[in-house]
Amino acid sequence: HSEPAVEALQPDDVRHLLPHPSPDAQKYVRGVVGVRAGSGAYPGAALLAVGGANTGLVGMVRYVGPEQVADTVRVAHPEVVGAGRVQAWVVGPGGGDDAGEMLAAARADGVPLVVDADALQHVDGPVPGWVLTPHAGELAAMLGADRTEVEAAPLEHVREAARRWDCVVLLKGHHTLVAGPAGRVRATTTGVPWLATAGAGDVLAGLVGALLAAGLEPYDAASVGSWLHGAAATEAAAGGPLTASRVAVQIPSLVREVLAGL
Ligand code: AMP
Ligand code: MG
Repeated sequence: HSEPAVEALQPDDVRHLLPHPSPDAQKYVRGVVGVRAGSGAYPGAALLAVGGANTGLVGMVRYVGPEQVADTVRVAHPEVVGAGRVQAWVVGPGGGDDAGEMLAAARADGVPLVVDADALQHVDGPVPGWVLTPHAGELAAMLGADRTEVEAAPLEHVREAARRWDCVVLLKGHHTLVAGPAGRVRATTTGVPWLATAGAGDVLAGLVGALLAAGLEPYDAASVGSWLHGAAATEAAAGGPLTASRVAVQIPSLVREVLAGL
């Protein structure tokens, strides 16, 4: 049998898929995303994942993590609040040894999850409705393959993972691919090699979680998030180097341009 052709989002598609607050919008209706990330060893991953989530695309961002990390998050992102109801969780960036517990706690809420980084190795059975965001090394570990095998055949491996876990898998790297459980794949056409920098993936996980909480289908949340992440990085880099925090702060003006049809 033949697999469906690989798709790519156009700016018009992104504009239509983006959340559009209605005139009677209310923050809880726009969506609440929760982030469970960061640890004593990696507090910055929490800040970056929260930064990716806190770009104005949802009504509210919550953070749950170690108290010292939460203090830092509150200073950097005064909009962010603590535990409570969410429509989606982002789990894993910088979680280290706590990632398994983070995943179990988030999972107990029964809402869709974006699973990244250290939490990926704790995903077991099928997880319909979730988005997994591995890079090649993380996907290789999940599949019991070598990183070089995944890098040599990313399309085959991302499809296999999406089928195996019955969910959306976003394989990050030089060519980022988003696969749905039935074999659909969207390739990300935006981005810049300067994005190969520490923390870039944490920002992406937060952004995808926000779109999921805002009501996008998992396949759309992952592919629109990846498209915005790459385009924001390209704008922020402006032909030169960039750091991951810059990608997150570029999102609102990028979204403004997409909505204006530029
Ligand atoms: P992570 O490995 O979790 O920090 O995620 C890295 C981020 O940088 C992902 O969004 C990748 O898609 C992106 N990235 C890594 N390498 C490249 C590259 N060569 N060109 C463009 N984007 C890249
Ligand atoms: Mg990462």
